[in-house]
Amino acid sequence: MAFRRSGVYKMPDELRRLVRPGLLTAASLDAVAAAVRPGVSTLELDAVAETVIRDGGGEPNFMLVPGYRHTVCASVNDEVVHGIPGPRVLVPGDLVSVDSGAQFEGWNGDSARTFVLDDPDRPDVVAERRRLNDVTEASLWHGIAALASASHLNEVGGAIEDHIASQGDFGIIEDYTGHGIGRSMHEDPPVFNYRVRGRGPAVRPGLVVAIEPMVTTGGIDTLTHDDEWTVSTRDGSLAAHWEHSVAVHADGIWVLTAHDGGAAGLAPLGVTPVPIA
Ligand code: MG
Ligand code: MG
Repeated sequence: MAFRRSGVYKMPDELRRLVRPGLLTAASLDAVAAAVRPGVSTLELDAVAETVIRDGGGEPNFMLVPGYRHTVCASVNDEVVHGIPGPRVLVPGDLVSVDSGAQFEGWNGDSARTFVLDDPDRPDVVAERRRLNDVTEASLWHGIAALASASHLNEVGGAIEDHIASQGDFGIIEDYTGHGIGRSMHEDPPVFNYRVRGRGPAVRPGLVVAIEPMVTTGGIDTLTHDDEWTVSTRDGSLAAHWEHSVAVHADGIWVLTAHDGGAAGLAPLGVTPVPIA
């Protein structure tokens, strides 16, 4: 996959080219959000996302990953990431993480959201799953907010870890990380979801990263299924996954995969995103 990567720090015109694929990615997940319900299969969700991306003039960039043939990954309950869409039909109470990405004119977006389906017969189960989901999403916003004032990238992981630790007994997956994004969906540098030794690269205009915490209700060990893609928690605990692609530019930060640039998610944290000029 090491072809046509862009540099860690993008030029201003390159940042502008990341806007459209980000918005297409957001639109594909909006469509998934509108379609997700008990009775729908993960393959149907995949088709919904693909239609939005192709109608917008883009290409599903997960299909550019050798060996992967779908637009989204759909990971249900104890599945963490990389679940392959298929005939599995969602049932009440399911927690499903959907990861999508669009390429537009050679530039990429990457974003994930997790949905918890209502189940009137199991309110306690739904409440536990929504709690996990809320903590995971909030940890992403804390990480993005940290990026806005960070001097070095690894401050992001510290902020994510601190928020999750403050919310109770959750696990942060370490087998997978976020990443730089540009001409390739996956570029350097890695973006950790926890505190690590070393400061990471300097945060300065041109840095574009996909931040993507994966959080469990139990342990952090994972296993990969025989399909060679689907990753589950080893202990069977539940996992949620949220992701945004975020650009640092001369005037501030902008969440490329949110229609409002992240304004709503960042407002409670005192950060105001600034559009890329
Ligand atoms: Mg992703
Ligand atoms: Mg990613």
